[in-house]
Amino acid sequence: MRERVVVALGGNAILQRGQRGTAAEQMGNVQKTAREVAKMIQAGYQVILTHGNGPQVGTILIQNELGARQVPAMPMDVCGAESQGFIGYLFCQALANCFQRKKIPIPKPVCIVTQVRVDRTDPAFQNPTKPVGPFFSEEEARRRMKERNETWIEDAGRGWRRVVPSPDPKEIIEKEAVRALVEQGFVVVASGGGGIPVVTAEDGGLEGVEAVIDKDLAAERLARDVNADLLLILTDVPQVLIHYRQPGEKAVGTIRADELEAYHLEGHFKSGSMGPKVEATLRFVRNGGKRAVIASLDQALEALEGSRGTQVLP
Ligand code: ADP
Ligand code: MG
Repeated sequence: MRERVVVALGGNAILQRGQRGTAAEQMGNVQKTAREVAKMIQAGYQVILTHGNGPQVGTILIQNELGARQVPAMPMDVCGAESQGFIGYLFCQALANCFQRKKIPIPKPVCIVTQVRVDRTDPAFQNPTKPVGPFFSEEEARRRMKERNETWIEDAGRGWRRVVPSPDPKEIIEKEAVRALVEQGFVVVASGGGGIPVVTAEDGGLEGVEAVIDKDLAAERLARDVNADLLLILTDVPQVLIHYRQPGEKAVGTIRADELEAYHLEGHFKSGSMGPKVEATLRFVRNGGKRAVIASLDQALEALEGSRGTQVLP
């Protein structure tokens, strides 16, 4: 039986620090990432991909702001969907080209625009924490807070920025479709940017909300929903560190969930970055996953095979 793995790609898989974000730059990075993914497929793994969208959705939000004098600005859920299409397209094309060159006989990769259900009663809706979109002056930020009922905060001297809730992912709405395509051998890109957050409306239908779901927590939800054996979270550092950027800093190799959770409770992992990755690995192995790994993108296959990265066991 081939092992099934959900691979969560970090921001560096699409855009490198210091790059401007041109289409050519992003396609170049995605092509490099696609080669790492192809290695895993050639090694015999069944891969489902998910990815972040921070810089891309940030750009779309700026484009909407600046274009609003001529065309209506779109709400966040629509911007999230746009970013999934944008990034999904880059990955599908890069992967297909890479498979063709390496003569890997698998069906063309496919991207699913993915909605993720969150609870309306999630406490995150009372406490928005996730910064999104452009920076503005204090005056403009205050005007938006009053007129649009948005929350804006001062961001470390760089200006004012909108913050939105980051609720917990409860269900991948398109999970049956993802599963069916995976069973048929397709490489599926799903739940990009953590998925489009939706809630159940009064009439039982779905509606989009102004929020952002953490992509690592959504990756874990996806992994469970498609019965993955493994969860591989790829980022820009080779391992999880304890005493991060402090005296006694130390890399974590293989670790059991209980031990990792103890470090998590001691506050070793930052909330906007490593915290959710650690949380995702804990959830995954506690819900029946065999193993979850946090590693750097350029060591993806070695990490999957157990010799690199931080290996989290049940
Ligand atoms: P991604 O786009 O891959 O999700 P993030 O920036 O969200 O990337 O998370 C990765 C970053 O987390 C690393 O670059 C590192 O600076 C930071 N980080 C915070 N705490 C830790 C820790 N305890 N160990 C390792 N990295 C950490
Ligand atoms: Mg992150």
